[in-house]
Amino acid sequence: VKKKAKGHEKQAREIKQAAVLGAGIMGGGIAYQSASKGTPILMKDINGDAIELGLKEARKLFGKGLERGKLTTDKMAQGLSNIRPTLSYGDFGNVDLVVEAVVENPKVKAGVLAELEDNVGDDTILTSNTSTISITRLAESLKRPENFCGMHFFNPVHRMPLVEVIRGEKSSDAAIAATVAYARQMGKTPIVVNDCPGFLVNRVLFPYFGGFSLLVEKGADYQRVDKVMEKFGWPMGPAYLLDVVGMDTAVHANAVMAEGFPERMAREGKTAIQVMYDNKRLGQKNDLGFYRYE
Ligand code: NAD
Repeated sequence: VKKKAKGHEKQAREIKQAAVLGAGIMGGGIAYQSASKGTPILMKDINGDAIELGLKEARKLFGKGLERGKLTTDKMAQGLSNIRPTLSYGDFGNVDLVVEAVVENPKVKAGVLAELEDNVGDDTILTSNTSTISITRLAESLKRPENFCGMHFFNPVHRMPLVEVIRGEKSSDAAIAATVAYARQMGKTPIVVNDCPGFLVNRVLFPYFGGFSLLVEKGADYQRVDKVMEKFGWPMGPAYLLDVVGMDTAVHANAVMAEGFPERMAREGKTAIQVMYDNKRLGQKNDLGFYRYE
């Protein structure tokens, strides 16, 4: 059954060439996902080593597809050739859509977006993968804020189906439509959400982490809580999930949520998550969080 296109999808710009800024955990994952689903993508970073790491990760993911018999060597070579690494904006003139995935710092992002806008066509769609910064606020650094919206992927990009497409105050229907279409092209499930702290997923997830933190502060055993939530049917419990997210990211996102929704999210004193962070137990990124990773 062919579904009827919704209003905003009818006018979607076709994304034949994409680009991603930042070749880190997210940028590398986005490049792989786009390339493996057939949309060529430029991957730009300011750091050559980061680009090498991003490409290494993509090669590893394609290699897994090959091992599992999901890919032929030809398809793998074709997929890899869809990723074009670069340190410059030289080839950005013909790009249809760009995902900004540089470090989570509002000043850096504002500078990068303004610079990007000067190097692309007037109607190129610009998106940001920010987890916590307001899209409306980021749009203030742009001359054409109507071409801009959020495109929030989850980590690891190749495994997480959801993409939040965030409508800032000035985002046009055309920008939203093109971003939704590109997410689908990448094999993802987009949802369009309004701009607010935590967007949709983190507004659900962070109160849950807060509830978990309170239990631990009252003396609950985090391993037992994890087991209970697994029995409840979740693929992993909150302690393990926090280790995956990283305590630094969780503390930062929680602060943004507490500022946005003080009545529900602000807390007196330190949460268990903050204590973990203070003790440098960041999670899987430094092999030590609630659990130890070797
Ligand atoms: P990261 O630190 O792994 O990668 C950031 C990359 O950006 C680095 O390679 C760095 O060299 C590069 N960079 C910095 N300045 C640049 C510039 N001016 N131009 C081009 N590249 C530049 O970070 P990450 O975890 O991939 O996060 C990137 C973005 O994605 C952040 O906004 C973050 O909030 C968001 N995000 C992260 C996750 C996650 O779980 N890691 C999930 C969803 C969204």
